[in-house]
Amino acid sequence: MVENRMIAEAEGLLEKLGVESAPIPVDRMAESLGIRIVYKPYEDGDDVSGMLYRGNGQPVIGVNSAHHIHRQRFTIAHEIGHFLLHEGKMYVDTPTVRFRDSVSGLAIDDEEIEANGFAAELLLPRKFLERSLDGLFKRKVRDRKGIVEKLSSEYKVSSQTVEFRLKNLGVLLPE
Ligand SMILES: [Zn+2]
Repeated sequence: MVENRMIAEAEGLLEKLGVESAPIPVDRMAESLGIRIVYKPYEDGDDVSGMLYRGNGQPVIGVNSAHHIHRQRFTIAHEIGHFLLHEGKMYVDTPTVRFRDSVSGLAIDDEEIEANGFAAELLLPRKFLERSLDGLFKRKVRDRKGIVEKLSSEYKVSSQTVEFRLKNLGVLLPE
């Protein structure tokens, strides 16, 4: 059920902005939702990837600009997921703690998993992926690493995200 909603929200955004090819402009998407993006290098202390804050004023997504651009894009997509799917006033995301916040408990973990799922839907839309994979197979890209790398640079997401996404969609790649 949640998955259907994630897909619908992600596809709605793509349609609204008339996006027809990769890379997906996640920053413009956030802006179209009335969210302000603030880039800031969080270099010391906790390894923060990003955050979403919605108080009384304009909602804000904070992005760690010290991170690789692929990670920044994933962070923005993840925070858009929180914004569209969840009620919380503030989310602070770190790459490692994201899944195990013992204080906040299971409900929070569910929200993190959903936000990650949404980010994958948004950054690697299934319709676009089918086309890209078709193109790669036509160009006779046969090796797994080659396929993942091509998709990673086309969509501007990390190769881990590509791998995760393809596995989730049940796309079988050559070993
Ligand atoms: Zn999160």
